[in-house]
Amino acid sequence: MASSLPLHHLFAFCDHCCHRATHRLLPRFCSGKSTGVNGSSDRMAKRVLCLFDVDGTLTAARKDVEQDMIEEMQRLRKIVTIGTVGGSDLVKQMEQLGKTVLQDFDYVFAENGLVAYKQGELLAVQSLRTHLGEDNLKEFINFCLKYLADIDIPLKRGTFIEFRNGMINVSPVGRNCSQEERDAFEVFDLANGIRAKFVDTLRERFAHLDLTFSVGGQISFDVFPRGWDKTYCLRYVKSDFDEIHFFGDKTHEGGNDYEIFASKDTVGHTVTGPSDTIRQLRELFPLSS
Ligand SMILES: [Mg+2]
Repeated sequence: MASSLPLHHLFAFCDHCCHRATHRLLPRFCSGKSTGVNGSSDRMAKRVLCLFDVDGTLTAARKDVEQDMIEEMQRLRKIVTIGTVGGSDLVKQMEQLGKTVLQDFDYVFAENGLVAYKQGELLAVQSLRTHLGEDNLKEFINFCLKYLADIDIPLKRGTFIEFRNGMINVSPVGRNCSQEERDAFEVFDLANGIRAKFVDTLRERFAHLDLTFSVGGQISFDVFPRGWDKTYCLRYVKSDFDEIHFFGDKTHEGGNDYEIFASKDTVGHTVTGPSDTIRQLRELFPLSS
């Protein structure tokens, strides 16, 4: 895809009237009149960023991007700035969105923005290790290991703690259990509150580390610093745009798009899948179609 910058300027609206800024090249066409504060032309005069969740928004769940979405992004990029914000790492985003994702989007935020790219260039990298420091991490992991050893549940397997760049995943039954064992743990946990009690204990014991605990899925919970959800990426764009639209499929409370969807810094849009994303984009940004 060609760079969006020249086209972005070309299709933006004039600062002084309701015409497209193409008359910057031909100033005599400037009418000096605005269409009003709510007119679509005013929206286009703003610096607008559209941020997209990946899985379930740009692609079907765990699938690769389809051609119609690639074309929609190319159209949209001619009038606004576009970016991705996914929970998984850059390798996974490249698998789903293509190897040229860094060229196809103005911003690419992997791991909720802990790994941030702008115009294909690495902007910043953050990690749990750097943020918390080895001593805090060791204390936390040691505490979990002891707690895990004392939990009495029907069965245990392996991989109880998984250390990732931006979070720690803790599983009382162990991540490498079978699907059957996974289902059984979920039922047992529901009746006995194993994960809830574990999280309560950690929350109290490590209050000074300002962590967030997210109980999701069947067998584990995630631990990460407060604010390391998708709103993390907003620090890199907040001051550069007048309007930031976010599109995601898990925007309900507890979903991984909830915080950025509900953020005062974004205009949130809930989508049911890639075709719904395209439908909403064509409604919101008709000039892109
Ligand atoms: Mg999603």
